[in-house]
Amino acid sequence: MKEIILAKYGEIILKGGNRPRFESILVNNIRNSLKNVAETKVRLAQATVYVEVQDQEKMDIVMERLSKIFGLVTITRAAVCEKDIEDIKAKAKEYLKNDLTDGKRFKVEAKRSDKQFPYKSPQICLEVGGFLDDEYPEIIVDVHNPDVTVKVEIRDFDAYVYADENKIQGQGGMPIGTGSKATLLLSGGIDSPVAGHMISKRGVEIDAVNFFSFPYTSERAKEKVITLAGIIARYTSKINLYIVPFTEIQLQIRDKCPEEHMTLIMRRFMMRIAEKLARKHKSHALITGESVGQVASQTLAALDVTNAAVDMPILQPLVGMDKIEIVNRATEIGTFETSILPYEDCCTVFTPKHPTTNPKRENIEKSESKLDVETLIEAALAGVEMIEVYPD
Ligand code: ATP
Ligand code: MG
Repeated sequence: MKEIILAKYGEIILKGGNRPRFESILVNNIRNSLKNVAETKVRLAQATVYVEVQDQEKMDIVMERLSKIFGLVTITRAAVCEKDIEDIKAKAKEYLKNDLTDGKRFKVEAKRSDKQFPYKSPQICLEVGGFLDDEYPEIIVDVHNPDVTVKVEIRDFDAYVYADENKIQGQGGMPIGTGSKATLLLSGGIDSPVAGHMISKRGVEIDAVNFFSFPYTSERAKEKVITLAGIIARYTSKINLYIVPFTEIQLQIRDKCPEEHMTLIMRRFMMRIAEKLARKHKSHALITGESVGQVASQTLAALDVTNAAVDMPILQPLVGMDKIEIVNRATEIGTFETSILPYEDCCTVFTPKHPTTNPKRENIEKSESKLDVETLIEAALAGVEMIEVYPD
């Protein structure tokens, strides 16, 4: 039986006059993400994206890809029927045979957007419901608490039948490309990939920056960051990842600044370098993964000192989340397993024994004044390596 995928979008509906622009970005994103996966035909009508898949064996992978597209709220497979009540009945019976099993309670819900169709919605429900009830004597009509809601939609070209319970949740959010660009400070940890996912979900394209301390951190640590960028890219398509050599800066901080200020000064350098890269590549904000109070460098006083180093919005979407919530999110989006691989991160290599938790800007600035900040930043920027990361 011929199937189609129906995907419905959410927030775009609120966009009024801008809606067509948002819709066409959404459809383009879908086409791009399916391009190398299967031959498909994608079109949009009445707040629904229709995806026809040439090779029906590819349905599962297409569903999987669509489940990662920001902007879609529900995705379902449906049987394609002729706009003929007898065909709809017959297809409903066959298509839902694994859903309408003995003892199941069911109801039919119909939506008729083609007003030429000779049956009105309540009549469609009666016709199809009565037929299924006769054909499957062991199922029970229950309009209040059904196990199975049989959906019948009469649309422009065809009619569709599916069980509402079989639809899957989409990502929600806004299509990538509708919200300009931000630069994610991507470490190898659990938090920053989640932060990147959360902001990209708002339609924001992502560049990523990683600070790398060769030879203190290994080639495998770098591979890990590339893998994480690849997982985020499943949702955003391509990501430009900038790898910044950070060893010289860390060594100088270690040699010239008080040990308890080391982490914060390091973090300030990261922010400044990320801001320069962001400005150069037309990105309008930085994204980091702090959660208030998680570690010494994430107290509010510490954030005050770190964030003061730059003059650009800093998006910290995890600020109010607990570790367990962040871990759950990381597991859902697929980054957790990679994040917990044990390779050293540049911060773990240079960690003070007693970091300050209640720093003052003046004190940190004074410690920092022992360094030639601008020259160090220029040198780091001169050594940046750019890697184009595609969905893995
Ligand atoms: P994560 O799990 O993201 O590593 P964390 O809890 O270890 O976070 P910190 O080490 O305090 O946090 O770093 C705070 C934020 O600074 C990170 O979430 C990330 O955005 C950024 N950051 C830290 N280290 C790096 C790095 N080596 N490269 C790029 N960004 C980094
Ligand atoms: Mg970390």
